[in-house]
Amino acid sequence: MPPPAVLSPAALPTPLTAVDVPVLARAGVRLRLKRDDLAHPTVPGNKWRKLAPNLALAVEQGRTGLLTFGGAYSTHIRATAAAARELGLSSVGVIRGDELAARPRNWSLRAAEADGMELRFVSRERYRELVRGADGRPEERGAGGAHGDGRRLVLPEGGSNALAVTGAAGIPAEIPDLGEQDVLCCPVGTGGTLAGVAAGLPPGARALGVAVLRGEGYLEREVSALHQAAYGRQFANWRIHHGHHGGGYGRVPAELEAFAARFEQRHGVAVERRYVAKALLAVHELAAAGEFRPGTRVTVVVTGLPDPVRA
Ligand SMILES: *Cc1c(COP(=O)(O)O)cnc(C)c1O
Repeated sequence: MPPPAVLSPAALPTPLTAVDVPVLARAGVRLRLKRDDLAHPTVPGNKWRKLAPNLALAVEQGRTGLLTFGGAYSTHIRATAAAARELGLSSVGVIRGDELAARPRNWSLRAAEADGMELRFVSRERYRELVRGADGRPEERGAGGAHGDGRRLVLPEGGSNALAVTGAAGIPAEIPDLGEQDVLCCPVGTGGTLAGVAAGLPPGARALGVAVLRGEGYLEREVSALHQAAYGRQFANWRIHHGHHGGGYGRVPAELEAFAARFEQRHGVAVERRYVAKALLAVHELAAAGEFRPGTRVTVVVTGLPDPVRA
């Protein structure tokens, strides 16, 4: 059987569930979860939203492979490998850190290799150069930049380009009743998901991104550039909160870990720690501090699953 021309569909729309949290109720805030973690078995959460339109383009253009960039535990790397395999495309992962080449593979890189991805380890310096080149100017992002051999589609780090943003705009489009009272909240790594969430909102509703790394100013510029690339315009309905990155990317302070474990126990939802836990904790603390108008309904996008293995 020939490989399918598009990525196998996600289970859409993903479930929308209300969660009862007393500390939020006291602040007049209702919480819902948009369960994108349940979207797809091998290309989880927002990675499916962002990859699906890019892969459709790759197939349409007759590309034979994908090339992208990521760190040693990148979910985007694993998701790209799985998606490429499903579509019968080759895949190359450019991995940050040339010292990793000589070491035994961690579980994440092993999973990518098991899906047929060729890994190329480069120094941090070279990685930065390559990532910048692959980003191209914003208007080139949709086409993946000018890298590669022309037959391979190049996706930027984190997969966030103009097409990815239009994919993520499908998240709010699945929520029928959004309006003035609503805040749609998601974690921010590279900003592609937030850019799509904001762009897909109806008038009156707002988007709140929670930065998971130290990126004040930089992340806002990324989201603006993605809006420009995807829609040729800016949006005024979003902001990024920078108070809950927990010390930086991948850092999970003890307080965050305890919060996430408690949330899992109380509400029966597995909480991914590097992104989702930070967004959830931020919502709790912002609500307790009176940062949301009473009557606000906050919907947190559960953008992914916990790692199968603790790094
Ligand atoms: C990759 C990832 C993100 C980051 O999304 P961006 O579009 O890069 O901001 C958020 N949550 C989870 C679970 C992820 O794996």
